[in-house]
Amino acid sequence: MQGYIFELITGPMGCGKTEELLRRVRRTIIAKKKVTVISPEIDTRAHGDYIESRNGLWLDAKKVKNAAQILTVTNDEDEIIAIDELQFFDENIVKVISKLIDSGKKVIGTGLDLDFKAEPFGYMPELMCLATKIDKLAAVCMKCGSENATRTQRLVDGQPVDKNSPLIMIGGNETYEARCMKCYELPDCKSESRKREFKLLHFGA
Ligand SMILES: [Zn+2]
Repeated sequence: MQGYIFELITGPMGCGKTEELLRRVRRTIIAKKKVTVISPEIDTRAHGDYIESRNGLWLDAKKVKNAAQILTVTNDEDEIIAIDELQFFDENIVKVISKLIDSGKKVIGTGLDLDFKAEPFGYMPELMCLATKIDKLAAVCMKCGSENATRTQRLVDGQPVDKNSPLIMIGGNETYEARCMKCYELPDCKSESRKREFKLLHFGA
């Protein structure tokens, strides 16, 4: 049995993370392994108890409200646990996944590494440290066609929004698209975003 593994699939919106997760899950079903697929309730793409990737593939998934609930919808017989959209989970997600791996299971997860401000999304940095294998996928840039889009651009009425824009725009036509580093835009605050990155690298008092 192939346990004690945590495979993490990451990258921007539209890079095929869920498709890749479903491909791996389908293989485990062919191999007659017991698998449970989990998706956070916040994921609005999903219909009912299914997770759906952008190319229309779907699979039976259990919806959970928080990280701790993952342990209540999995059982001892499960050999593989697949979890979609890990960036939406609370701080307990690191402990929950550690527990699943420690019990000999294989965990396969997906998550956006960066939010629309190009900053680490939720507990993805910790999960990337915990992972035994990471695949960072790139998307096609929706502006220049480069195949190296690593960022998720937030647009309202077709225009890039700045980092202080509210989380939910009422009445706004909000969309997201993949962009390469050259085409990614975050008006008025690029320097501030950089400052945060350098602060993390600054050691000592
Ligand atoms: Zn581009």
